[in-house]
Amino acid sequence: MSTSPQIALITGASRGIGAAIARRLARDGFAVAINYASNADQADALVAELTQAGVSAIAVQADVSRADQVQAMFTTIENKLGKIDVLVNNAGMLKTMPLAQTSDELYAQNFAINTQGVFNTLREAATRLNDGGRIINLSSTTLALNLPGYAIYNGTKAAVEAFTRVFAKELRGRHITVNAVAPGPVATDLFLNGKTEEQIQTFARMPPLERLGQPDDIAGVVAMLAGKDGAWVNGQVLRANGGVA
Ligand code: NAP
Repeated sequence: MSTSPQIALITGASRGIGAAIARRLARDGFAVAINYASNADQADALVAELTQAGVSAIAVQADVSRADQVQAMFTTIENKLGKIDVLVNNAGMLKTMPLAQTSDELYAQNFAINTQGVFNTLREAATRLNDGGRIINLSSTTLALNLPGYAIYNGTKAAVEAFTRVFAKELRGRHITVNAVAPGPVATDLFLNGKTEEQIQTFARMPPLERLGQPDDIAGVVAMLAGKDGAWVNGQVLRANGGVA
């Protein structure tokens, strides 16, 4: 007898870590909603790949920084797949710059996507996630490294970690866990763009495991928290970074 699959929404899943999480959760038996901001082609290609493999998958465009678009995204997923069980807040941006040179616009954009984007989906999830569900927010190990240029980005992720710990308690009675995964450097557009080969190699040598993380390294940790082995982990921040901090 077949049972209907649980449903996972992964924000920012058109590429990078989010796409790896979508592939992994699909392999673990979830139906997946692949959110993206503007890369419809990549999101559609991932849906086609997963559909070919027999998975229920849809692409949903929404700018997570916009509460109205996040509400509409939840409605679309509920109509097409059903109520969401697992929310992965992965969408994010990084633009490093000394704090003194950061414009008001860049400051606002960072917080709108990385912090308000998470707030918007969490607020929807409070009433719209199935009981027994899981929420996994992407933070960053940069919070522990305190490198110059990361003040604004770290500020956005510090807020995400704060949301994670408090929201886990606010969901008492719903049997929903809320955790964060904080990767170290991972070889995606977000990390690689704008860096010289020398800078990339410097980051790769930092962890005792002496390499950059790959999207699948992070997807495996998210899958653990989304699956039955993660059931007793709640309100935590799990660093996945090869031991860099
Ligand atoms: P990425 O390769 O740059 O991909 C970013 C994803 O987020 C894309 O799917 C993008 O969609 C989506 N996105 C961006 N703005 C959005 C918005 N306003 N609304 C909806 N989706 C939006 O990034 P990544 O490296 O995979 O990073 C994923 C997460 O991991 C981020 O939260 C990041 O801060 C965190 N992280 C990354 C690293 C690293 O080294 N890579 C380390 C620590 C933490 P489009 O394709 O449509 O633009």
